[in-house]
Amino acid sequence: MTLFDVQAVRDQFPALNQQVHGRPLVYLDNAATSQKPRAVLDVQEAYYTQDNANVHRGIHELSRRATEAYEDARIKVARWIKAADSAELVWTRGTTEAINLVAMGWGLDNISEGDEIVLTEMEHHSNLVPWHLLSRRTGAVLRYIDLDDQGRLILDNLDELLTERTKLVACGHVSNALGTINPVERIIEAAHAVGALVLIDGAQGIVHLPVDVQALGADFYCFSGHKMCGPTGIGALWARRSILEAMEPWQGGGEMIRFVHKDHSTWAEVPHKFEAGTPNIAGAVAMGAAVDFLSDLGMEAIAAHERAIMEYALARVGEIAGIRVFGPESLDERSAVLSFLLGDAHPHDISTILDSEGIAVRAGHHCAQLVMKRYGVAATARASFYLYNTTEDVDRFVDGLGIVKGIFG
Ligand code: PLP
Repeated sequence: MTLFDVQAVRDQFPALNQQVHGRPLVYLDNAATSQKPRAVLDVQEAYYTQDNANVHRGIHELSRRATEAYEDARIKVARWIKAADSAELVWTRGTTEAINLVAMGWGLDNISEGDEIVLTEMEHHSNLVPWHLLSRRTGAVLRYIDLDDQGRLILDNLDELLTERTKLVACGHVSNALGTINPVERIIEAAHAVGALVLIDGAQGIVHLPVDVQALGADFYCFSGHKMCGPTGIGALWARRSILEAMEPWQGGGEMIRFVHKDHSTWAEVPHKFEAGTPNIAGAVAMGAAVDFLSDLGMEAIAAHERAIMEYALARVGEIAGIRVFGPESLDERSAVLSFLLGDAHPHDISTILDSEGIAVRAGHHCAQLVMKRYGVAATARASFYLYNTTEDVDRFVDGLGIVKGIFG
């Protein structure tokens, strides 16, 4: 059941209104990045045309306005995820930088040789490689939660996996490669029971689910603006204030200091001590506008719309002989990602043929090589849906797969 007028929503996204290879664009690569509504583009342009100045430093009107817009956006995003305090929201370049910030800012001081970090087989490389780097520097041991045949985490042996040696569990909220929605509350509870902290990679979760970081109870939640209608190059780390206050800065420079002496410096308050150098001010302001846009539609309504589209898509692709769909069977356990293989067609060929029909999907390992390895495939094709996709988009996609079948049999 869709609770908003999808056509009216589509009209707000200029990029959706174009022809690709002579056909109206069907954009199904939303898990990689979303398109941007006019409201976000306008706010970004207005920032650069009217308020552009550096933040926090200037004592002139434009700097005051830029600082206010930048900090108002922080408050907006923090409220949206129900953070207790906007100081708990650190601006980053995106999810990747947020996770690296935790690995280097928290991990180097809190993880020692023999300590364990528990990850899952479904993680995006952004939530694997920073822990590889940390493990090389500290001697920490990496352990994994495995996947079942439906792309769900196997949690039966969680009690054996989590021990007093576990210092951190780092887990995705929603998988970009399989669409699985993870039972993160259960993992957080089990991790806390052994005294471990929990980092949630929310890059895909924040896009499709209402997020309440306090109710969730994690210690770190990382996300990107560009997958949720905002611009690229901006995202955030949310962490509880007490944790941020105990952490050392991970980058040094302007903005993040209180006093600088010849041999040492002292730090600004959180969150500023983690924001060295001139930040992505326009990006933050535009991300605030994206939150306004999503709030107006309502995350519950967006989730309901996406579920309806996904239900329709699964039913339609289910009619195609030779299709192999990855991820959970139940709609309660999966988000708007449809990862698949079709007969002997290589995913890149599927993507190329669909592209020639004006349909954008992704092919490859989706930065989740462990997932590909688990299912014994080199790559999959992936259609990922968002709030502006329609059943007509799904029909065009299924027609495109018919062409693929015509060529590959
Ligand atoms: N984690 C997941 C699950 C993702 O899907 C992505 C992006 O595809 C990332 C992390 C990395 O996000 P970014 O490239 O915006 O830092």
